[in-house]
Amino acid sequence: MTVGGTFPTPADAESLAREHWGLVCRAEPLAGEVDRNFLLVSENGDRWVLKVSRENTDPTGLEYQIETMRFLENSPVAHLVQRPLPTADGRFLLPFGPGESGRCWVRALSFLGGSPLVDLRDRPPAFLIAIGQALARLDLSLHGFDHPAAHRDHPWNIERTDDLLRFASHIPDPARRELVERHVERFRDDAVPRLAELERGVIHNDANDHNLLVQRNAHGEPALAGIIDFGDSRFTVTVAELAISAAYLMLDREHPLTTAALVTSGYNSVRPLSTDEQALLFDLIKARLCASLLMSARGLHEEPENEYLQISAAPVWRLLERMAMIDPDEATRAFEEACAGSRTPVRSAEEILDVRRTHFGFNLSVSYSKPLKIVRGEGQYLFDDAGRRYLDLVNNVCHVGHCHPQVVAAAQRQMAELNTNTRYLHDNLAEYVLRLAGTFPNPLEVCFFTNSGTEANDLALRLARTRTGSKEIIVLDHAYHGHSPSLVEISPYKCEGPGGQGLAGHAHKVPMPDTYRGPHRGLDAGIRYAGEVGAAIADIADGGKKLGAFMAESLIGCGGQVIPAPGFLAAAAEAVRSAGGVVIADEVQVGFGRVGTHLWAFESQNVVPDIVTLGKPIGNGHPMAAVVTTREIAASFVTGMEYFNTFGGNPVSCAVGLAVLDVIETQGLQQHALEVGTHMLDGLRELQARHCLIGDVRGLGLFIGVELVRDHQSLEPADTEASRIIDEMKSRGFLLSTDGPLHNVLKIKPPMVLTAADADQTLEALDEILGAFD
Ligand code: PMP
Repeated sequence: MTVGGTFPTPADAESLAREHWGLVCRAEPLAGEVDRNFLLVSENGDRWVLKVSRENTDPTGLEYQIETMRFLENSPVAHLVQRPLPTADGRFLLPFGPGESGRCWVRALSFLGGSPLVDLRDRPPAFLIAIGQALARLDLSLHGFDHPAAHRDHPWNIERTDDLLRFASHIPDPARRELVERHVERFRDDAVPRLAELERGVIHNDANDHNLLVQRNAHGEPALAGIIDFGDSRFTVTVAELAISAAYLMLDREHPLTTAALVTSGYNSVRPLSTDEQALLFDLIKARLCASLLMSARGLHEEPENEYLQISAAPVWRLLERMAMIDPDEATRAFEEACAGSRTPVRSAEEILDVRRTHFGFNLSVSYSKPLKIVRGEGQYLFDDAGRRYLDLVNNVCHVGHCHPQVVAAAQRQMAELNTNTRYLHDNLAEYVLRLAGTFPNPLEVCFFTNSGTEANDLALRLARTRTGSKEIIVLDHAYHGHSPSLVEISPYKCEGPGGQGLAGHAHKVPMPDTYRGPHRGLDAGIRYAGEVGAAIADIADGGKKLGAFMAESLIGCGGQVIPAPGFLAAAAEAVRSAGGVVIADEVQVGFGRVGTHLWAFESQNVVPDIVTLGKPIGNGHPMAAVVTTREIAASFVTGMEYFNTFGGNPVSCAVGLAVLDVIETQGLQQHALEVGTHMLDGLRELQARHCLIGDVRGLGLFIGVELVRDHQSLEPADTEASRIIDEMKSRGFLLSTDGPLHNVLKIKPPMVLTAADADQTLEALDEILGAFD
């Protein structure tokens, strides 16, 4: 027998196998991290593995591994676990080598086919679920097994991950070092004490992607073929099995949380996880990633040239950095839903884009260069399919907060009871009309209910026409009022933009009352802008026609978050009325307390319109809208032709509308919008003083615009800068968008539950990003 440099040789392995196990076979070296391994192949093709330990290995650990595997011999996972083979004289472990001191230990195990999971790139959901199930079966099968070595000190004891912090100093990048330290310290302080409550037992403790073997079945689908290497097995919290495996399965996956959720759902289907286990899973996964990084930092410190360690740590860093951005509550929720079987991942963002490209109307862009797949909303937050949380600074539809429980409950309750049209009598309609009309100043007291802002504005046009007998209408430049033909042709934002056919003959536009960029600035700008309305009226009269209506947003949204020049609306309304026209205030974006000082934005402009249209926030996302007008105008609409709207004013919509009003009132959201909005505006003005890119900061309550310019004299619009800022903010977890004819205005119109702390974080992020442009 050779004892020397290449010890043991394949010839040594062959003679050991023959002498002790009676196996006549050829030995081929196999890769092994700790042991020296040989594949034994008999003449008729049977295969085994012979493992020779390093010199001076303490046999206790090896005996423990053998006993663990033997314990599983008749279990439901026996086919996945190598079986230790006894020698002819009934031993499982043989001493081998020179004398006592340099002794190695030899054992033979059954061979499992397949290749390591790490080499398999496509991992269908069913396969991930099956891995979870197999791990759970393994843990259940190990139930009742114990051994003194299962309690040994051991670097991969997840409960003592903090012991590895001593290697943190070997992480050269300070930011990465801090990331690992922060996670491990939090794990030690917050999670470890809670582990005491969890079920414990012996687990494999290292079901990573090298230790799981895969084979393809007859249909070419991957199937689990083995769970090898019990070398790190120990007694600990049972759920660590799942966490450890999930940690490695998540590496370099496009949607790591979805991957983990699938494995979890499989695991839970065999061994149901307790609520505490579900709640600690995310922390355990991160702890294992940190342990892996600390161990490779130690390894690299000892062997700086070790390329394997360098390469293998890279995806772990990438994953930990991504995980740091995932909201822990959201991760836990994903695991809870996986256990409850309620979240079935359907299509990736890319697949959804594909479906949209083929089967969804083509003329709609999606937000952001890398579109978001948003799967959940709560309050001022949105969550993407990777569990990342975003502060929603721009969605003025989910006014009282995404999925407000009171609104959701009202809709669910009524939906389960009755939904029908307004030809039947229903309490909800009566209640809602009274509540809504009651919020308007006299003489606005009659409501019509529709399903969208467009429908509301279209109806407003009809009301104005029957009242005045004229179609002639004055609108603001860049205005948008809806997507029906009647509105596209009077919305310069659309009909004068790409694909547009210009303003209709009966539409007359006047400049936006913009004191920053418009033709009139200074103290009397409001009056001068109103003068433009007067001039348009005169033009209409010169053409032998009479004015029907003037339609404007009370504060201007699509035009670039513009607050009208003071006095404009009131003076314009006066001119319009003296010409016999009616004033239509489009409050689709700005109503319901957003401006903070008042419930309706027109009130902040000292004017009472004749017709007001409401939309977006009215149902917190439920499709509904309304027109509120005077008794006189409503009466003139009684022409004999009925106004019937199938869905408008249905009991569900009214229940939702009532709940929205309730929440605005009970949560004091109007006052809140004033306070948080003012705080945000103050902060933005402070940024304006320091960052030259900000040309103008304007707003009322939580309706805010930040206009970006390259030059404060020429006002050259900083449009590309604006889109860069939007993308940068998105990558930091803040959703914003741009608006205005020159695409250079950052618009801020968040759900009204935005807090001052949210505003501070937004300002901080903007401050940093704007710094790059100074
Ligand atoms: N008016 C204004 C001011 C709007 O902003 C919008 C929608 N962006 C509409 C009307 C049309 O509303 P909807 O999309 O609900 O038809």
